[in-house]
Amino acid sequence: MRLVFLGAPGVGKGTQADKVASLNGLLKISTGDLLREAVRSQTPLGLEAKSFMDQGKLVPDSVVIGLVRDKLSDPSCGKGFVLDGFPRTVPQAEELAKVLVDRKISLDRVINFQVSREDVVKRLTGRRSCQKCPATFHLDFAPSKVSGICDRCGGPLIQRSDDQREAIETRLRVYDEQTAPLISFYEKQGLLSNLDGSGSVETVSQNLTKVLATRKTA
Ligand code: AMP
Repeated sequence: MRLVFLGAPGVGKGTQADKVASLNGLLKISTGDLLREAVRSQTPLGLEAKSFMDQGKLVPDSVVIGLVRDKLSDPSCGKGFVLDGFPRTVPQAEELAKVLVDRKISLDRVINFQVSREDVVKRLTGRRSCQKCPATFHLDFAPSKVSGICDRCGGPLIQRSDDQREAIETRLRVYDEQTAPLISFYEKQGLLSNLDGSGSVETVSQNLTKVLATRKTA
């Protein structure tokens, strides 16, 4: 299975990507996680990406395309992959298509997660992220067992700088301008399935499983 998860920030793509990847033995490729890891490790790429990310702007296409190309050559991609947060621009989608052609593979589905703007803002402002690992929680909807401490690794939970209100507004504007055009890009290729992402994690996960089991796009 080779999947792309599309949708505005805060629609729950990352959470569902984790689930679908572990259920199906797929490699989850999250450009956001890869970039945050590079920032934490203070690599040259991380240092370049940080100021874009803090402001909620997109990191240059050439940087993320390089990251994804490397990951797609990873042998753990054998059973397939789920791309979370990539592509985010039409040029990224075009580059991805070229990389897949080179590897003689193609995408199976692009899932477009749909959640109201109001809910997205609630999800993002209440999100708390571990400073040490990629785990995320929500103050109201998915609190950690001990306040401020990551259930997975015991690291401190923080509010990402790009989950603060001003950066959220920028991220949503960037999504509307640069990422939303990918909906019709993939629709035209017959790859797009819409998914209501507004329920609980479990409900969305069950609906996603049903959508993935159907052959025809929605
Ligand atoms: P995310 O965790 O997917 O919301 O990504 C966090 C931030 O990483 C974004 O706001 C961007 O600054 C950067 N980023 C992640 N994926 C991409 C991408 N495909 N293209 C450009 N920037 C990205």
